[in-house]
Amino acid sequence: MNVALVSAPAIRTVDVIRKKRDGVELSRTEIEYLVRGYTSGEIPDYQVAAWLMSAVIRGLTRAETAALTDAMLRSGEVLDLSEFSAKKIDKHSTGGVGDKTSLVLAPVAAAGGLMHTCGCAMIGQTAEIAPADRKLYALRDVTGTVESPYLICASIMSKKLAEGIDGLVLDVKTGSGAFMKKEEDAVFLAELMVETGERMGKQVVALITDMDQPLGLLVGNSLEVAEVVDVLRGAGPQDLRELCLELAGWMFLLGGATASVTQGKQTAEQLLRSGKALERFGQMVALQGGDSSVIDHPRRLPQAEHKLDVLSSRSGCVMKIDCEAVGIACVVLGGGREKKEDSVDPSVGLALHKKVGDSVVAGEPLCAIHYNSEARAARAKTLIEASYQIGETPPTKRPLVHRVIGKTGDQN
Ligand code: URA
Repeated sequence: MNVALVSAPAIRTVDVIRKKRDGVELSRTEIEYLVRGYTSGEIPDYQVAAWLMSAVIRGLTRAETAALTDAMLRSGEVLDLSEFSAKKIDKHSTGGVGDKTSLVLAPVAAAGGLMHTCGCAMIGQTAEIAPADRKLYALRDVTGTVESPYLICASIMSKKLAEGIDGLVLDVKTGSGAFMKKEEDAVFLAELMVETGERMGKQVVALITDMDQPLGLLVGNSLEVAEVVDVLRGAGPQDLRELCLELAGWMFLLGGATASVTQGKQTAEQLLRSGKALERFGQMVALQGGDSSVIDHPRRLPQAEHKLDVLSSRSGCVMKIDCEAVGIACVVLGGGREKKEDSVDPSVGLALHKKVGDSVVAGEPLCAIHYNSEARAARAKTLIEASYQIGETPPTKRPLVHRVIGKTGDQN
């Protein structure tokens, strides 16, 4: 008997784009084809850009989101850390102004027996882990296709799951300085990420946290490192310290180091008080080629040449701070990139003297600008002046943690 072997028809990129454009669900094979073809350079930018835009407009189903995450995470190396018996619990923040919690959490988690990434390390995105995300994110940045919860979920979760983790604590920010300004959008993204991680057999919990004003008092690279050291010494601003303890509490719970978040927070507090977390931070800095003497001599961190106070024009109470404007002011000073090719000046930034709810007298400083260029400082000053809203009555205080999403959300 003759058996005719019929091979599957070849996938054509244009058909995959048309399907998504028309709102038809893509198969796992089609999504894998797209990710593999783009990563290898066989599918050009313009076709993937068209597909991304249709994905932003049409959205992705849960199955498509899972397939995309999976294809992206397998586009590069997937770390196998199973030889280490300790639980590997990582943390990810969707990002905000003055958010420096990772620098505190990594040494706290490591000192408490959890492995945060490789023992305790800080890495940027590499070409080896989830290279599809590196390429796709750069394309999304310039094609107006970042703002999709499905694409954000696949981007974040592919990188995190490729690290060989057992569990993940997500800090999903909401407010004027966050990606997701509206709480319902933050919750939707958080639910999507928790579900995607759980589908892959990981323990995931997401905290919806406040980003309606900067976290802590210092914004800018060196300034934020100095504030991190303060927290690791058991001091530092209350909001930053409280959020670090909360996130660490969840990391210890997911890692099985404690039976509850409350116990996890107590453990974290003890690691800060005893200096053990600070000691681990110093080791991490030295092992990664940094100068750990800055811990005892913070003036050795890059310092801006000049300082300028922004004064309050009236007396009253700080009602609101436009958090995004503070972030932009830091970028304008050179503390972040306006264009991809810009370099970052680690010495510049902002030191807030007043936060929401504080009372202020006319002529008192609201914020100090640390700068190296008069022209940049003038632009930053205008932004900061406009960002502070001073009124009569103290505003209602927003909680730091709005809610917790995930199966473990009731294990306090
Ligand atoms: N952060 C990421 O890593 N990816 C996104 O898509 C958005 C924020």
